[in-house]
Amino acid sequence: MTAKIIDGKAVAAQVRADIAVRVAEIKSKYGFQPGLAVVLVGEDPASQVYVRNKGKQTAEVGMKSIEHKLPVETSEADLLALVDKLNNDDTINGILVQLPLPDHVNAEKVLNTIDPMKDVDGFHPMNVGRLWIGERALVPCTPTGSIILAKSVQENLSGMEAVIIGRSNIVGKPVAQLLLRENCTVTLAHSRTKDLPGVVRRADIVVAAVGIPEFVKGDWIKPGAIVIDVGINRIPKDDGKSRLVGDVAYEEAAKVASAITPVPGGVGPMTIACLLRNTVEAALMQKGLVA
Ligand code: NAD
Repeated sequence: MTAKIIDGKAVAAQVRADIAVRVAEIKSKYGFQPGLAVVLVGEDPASQVYVRNKGKQTAEVGMKSIEHKLPVETSEADLLALVDKLNNDDTINGILVQLPLPDHVNAEKVLNTIDPMKDVDGFHPMNVGRLWIGERALVPCTPTGSIILAKSVQENLSGMEAVIIGRSNIVGKPVAQLLLRENCTVTLAHSRTKDLPGVVRRADIVVAAVGIPEFVKGDWIKPGAIVIDVGINRIPKDDGKSRLVGDVAYEEAAKVASAITPVPGGVGPMTIACLLRNTVEAALMQKGLVA
C-alpha cells in the first residue's frame, strides 16, 4: 500500500477561503470587522516569523490585524496591563501572546489573564475545562488542524482506535479530547508507556506529537492506518544546511498507512488557519451570535 499524502497546505487554503467568506458576511450582515491582536515580546527569530505570518494571513482573510512588538526587557506588569487593555478593547476579538516569553515573565499568569472569550489559542483553564466537559470552547489550533486533516480523508471517525503519542497540554491532551468527541476509542501514550510499538500497532489513527525526529517507525503502523504527524524537527544535512522532519519515519510509514501528513506541508499550515477560525468563532460568541 502507498499512502495518500494529506496536503495540509491545500486544506489550510480551503479553511482560509471559508473564513474569508464568513468575515465578509459578518461585515455586511452585522457591520463589524473581527480583529486579532498578536503580542510578541523579544526578538526570538522563529517567533518573529510566526507573528509576521499570522498578521499577513489575518489581513488576507479581511480581518483587522494588530501587532504589539515589545522589547525583551518588558516587565510582567506592563505585559499584564497590555493584555488587560486588549481584553477591554471592543475592536479586538482574539488575543494571542506568542510563546516563549522571556524568563522574567510568568507565562502562565499572562495566559490566564487573557479573557477566556478572546483566548484564541485555547490555553486558558476555562477553555481547557470547557473542552473536557464537552461545552462550546475555543480549542487549541494545532489539535483542531490535526483533526480536520484526519477527517479530510475519513469524515466519520466513530469507533476507530486512536493512539496519540505525547501528552502535552498544547497538542497531545487536546487531540485526545477532540478524538473522543469524534467517538474514537482513545489511548494517550507517553514516555512511560510500556511496549509503545505494540500500542501504536492497534491504532486506526496515529497522532504523533513527541518532538523526536522520525521516532515512530514504519513497522509500528497498522496497515491502512491514518497517520497525522504533528512533529516539527530541524535536523542537519550533509551539506551543512538543515531540513525539517516529523516525528514519524515518513518513507517507511507511507508504505503501510492509508493516508499520512508530510512534514513540512501537513499539520504545520493548519495552525494559523485554525487561529483565524477561532478568531471568527470568538467574535461571534462575544456578540452573542452563537450559542
Ligand atoms: P512536548 O515536549 O511538550 O511534549 C512531548 C510529549 O512527548 C510528552 O508528553 C512526552 O511524554 C512525550 N514523549 C517524549 N519522549 C517520548 C518517548 N520516548 N516515547 C513516548 N512519548 C514520548 O512537545 P509538544 O509541544 O507537544 O510538541 C510535540 C511536537 O509537535 C514537536 O515536534 C513540536 O515542534 C511539534 N509542534 C508542532 C506544531 C505545529 O505544527 N504548528 C505546534 C506545536 C507543536
